[in-house]
Amino acid sequence: MVIIDNKTELSHLVDQYRQKGKIIGFVPTMGALHEGHLSLVKKSKELTDITICSIFVNPTQFNDKADLELYPRMPEKDAYMLEKEGCGVLFLPEVSQIYPEEDKRVFDFGNLERILDGTSRPGHFNGVAQVVSILFGIVKPDKAFFGEKDYQQLLIIKELNNLLQLKVEVIGCPILRESDGLAMSSRNMLLSDEERKAASLIPNLMQEAKRLKQQGKTIPEVKQFVSQQLGSNPIYKLDYYEICNATTLSPLNSLNNSGKSISLIAVFVGKIRLIDNLALD
Ligand code: AMP
Repeated sequence: MVIIDNKTELSHLVDQYRQKGKIIGFVPTMGALHEGHLSLVKKSKELTDITICSIFVNPTQFNDKADLELYPRMPEKDAYMLEKEGCGVLFLPEVSQIYPEEDKRVFDFGNLERILDGTSRPGHFNGVAQVVSILFGIVKPDKAFFGEKDYQQLLIIKELNNLLQLKVEVIGCPILRESDGLAMSSRNMLLSDEERKAASLIPNLMQEAKRLKQQGKTIPEVKQFVSQQLGSNPIYKLDYYEICNATTLSPLNSLNNSGKSISLIAVFVGKIRLIDNLALD
């Protein structure tokens, strides 16, 4: 695996691959890698000739400075895992490589960003759009792989790709989970033992809520159930639990809404904010 920290060098390397007719796959990450990230690398290896992974903790997508500072960083371990997985190139840029000057672009993703993490983390998706558009500009991938774990982000990146006509095939990949059902996340390692145990309620609650909905409970009843369950222990603080149209993310309020639906949750366990989602159809 080649490790590159310079964007011009990476662009030249990519040009060489492309001249040889290679299909380029791209997996952007913020590092502290786990099996969820590696599943994206595996998918890329399956569908492309060269897999490029980036590790960049993007400052513009953190609306909370403490969260940015707390974010785990372990590039050596990450590089080892990627090499073992057969990743071709690791791009590890400094902030000055990505943002030689302040990125003042403001994107508008309409209703997609006016809900859920869009309102809970103001500016977050704008920062995501900035970094992804810059990284796509450097790597110019044929295909890029993103996890359904960050479901709203995946929809926004597809929209960004359309808006800027980037012509990248954006491929969503399923959520990988720990044995107790908790969605894998770099943030899980920040949980204390007690918080980690408590976090397993999240996937169980989502499944239970899905069953209740299938049994005919109304959406307000299902939402109330989730909020009551989490309210019974002060270790949790529910940010949101919503049932939305899976394509537009418009919240559904009755059972006879058309189209596929998805439940999405954000919960603080202690100080750590975890997100998850579950398709309901
Ligand atoms: P992050 O490093 O958290 O920015 O994540 C990088 C990519 O990995 C994003 O596309 C995430 O959606 C994806 N990802 C993170 N956790 C998981 C998971 N548990 N299963 C599948 N993909 C994931």
